[in-house]
Amino acid sequence: MADTAAVVGGGIGGLATAIALHRYGWRVVVYERDAEVPATGTALGMWPAALRALDALGVGDDVRRLGRRQRVGEFRRPDGTRIAAIDTVKLERRTGDPVYLLSRPALLNLLRRAVGDAALHLGTAVRGLRPLREKFDVVVAADGVFSQAREEVFGPDYRARYAGNTAWRGFVEDLPTETFTETWGDGAKFGVTPQEGGRTNWYASIPAPEGGFTPGAELANLRRLFDGWADPVRTVLDAISEPQILRHDVYVTPRLPTFVRHNVAFIGDAAHAMRPDLGRGACEALIDAITLATCLRDASAIPHGLHAYDRQRRRPTQRLAGMSGVAAGLSRIRHALWLRDALLRASVLAGPPG
Ligand SMILES: Cc1cc2nc3c(=O)[nH]c(=O)nc-3n(C[C@H](O)[C@H](O)[C@H](O)COP(=O)(O)OP(=O)(O)OC[C@H]3O[C@@H](n4cnc5c(N)ncnc54)[C@H](O)[C@@H]3O)c2cc1C
Repeated sequence: MADTAAVVGGGIGGLATAIALHRYGWRVVVYERDAEVPATGTALGMWPAALRALDALGVGDDVRRLGRRQRVGEFRRPDGTRIAAIDTVKLERRTGDPVYLLSRPALLNLLRRAVGDAALHLGTAVRGLRPLREKFDVVVAADGVFSQAREEVFGPDYRARYAGNTAWRGFVEDLPTETFTETWGDGAKFGVTPQEGGRTNWYASIPAPEGGFTPGAELANLRRLFDGWADPVRTVLDAISEPQILRHDVYVTPRLPTFVRHNVAFIGDAAHAMRPDLGRGACEALIDAITLATCLRDASAIPHGLHAYDRQRRRPTQRLAGMSGVAAGLSRIRHALWLRDALLRASVLAGPPG
């Protein structure tokens, strides 16, 4: 009889796990509390290791076809001068692939098609793991940064923590760009990237107290915060309209002592939500998914497979979360900007973490 798994959460990590386990002969059910795929959403950078995970899921070529390849990248100052250029050719030579930018809904749609309707229970929120743990061989907790599963298993000390930054995101239509730019002011930053469909994706971030939202006035806020910044920030700010703006405070997962407890495995943001400064959270969720499925396939017994997954993924993702914290700290520097620029140049030269 086939092994069985319940996946809690049909986001990027949960769907990817379901596809991978199904490919290896498991019977899988995914429970997703939302009834629909979000219709709009901003771009995610898919790094080479994530593209390899997507290849293993059978959707890598679709991502390369639908996504926008990142060709040129620069870090700039608010007056438009360059701090550092990103050598995309070097990245491609080193890893065999460039970074592709694809919107979250486009990626989710690809993954949902690959999972198939039969395995996916939409509009079904899981409240408590016990019945699933009894019925299925493995439960995969893929319920994101505010994971209830994590709290149930590890307790309230492991609730998501505010990271000290707030972020705005969105895209503008009919403003195609080839270039990734991230402009760094004193403590604030504004990013502009290509997105599929002739859109331009943008994001902005500042250190701020938690929960300081001003519905209806976020555009005015952004224009005040980034007033006088050179293109492309100025052009993007002129093209944004209020209803298109998404604002989220940034939360992180406390460092977990293990990614596996009993027959429950934690993946993606439920296991290691990190600051978005390296743009790696979704990529790591995909790599978790394929690693977990492969470990279960190759193990002589399920507990061995689960422990192999914990061994392979906990250290690298927690290290990356630490590096994202360092990158966030760099962008928050308000004084000695010459030193910050030198450190940023050095880290760009060293290349992204593998
Ligand atoms: C500003 C910002 C920019 C980012 N940019 C990038 C980037 O460029 N590249 C990148 O790789 N990553 C990026 N990330 C990170 C990325 O968005 C996340 O790491 C990724 O979405 C995590 O996927 P996940 O499947 O673990 O969780 P999620 O995508 O959060 O999915 C969790 C799913 O579980 C469901 N769920 C929750 N509770 C329950 C329940 N009780 N029952 C059933 N279902 C439930 C939710 O509805 C959701 O669908 C960014 C994040 C932020 C905040």
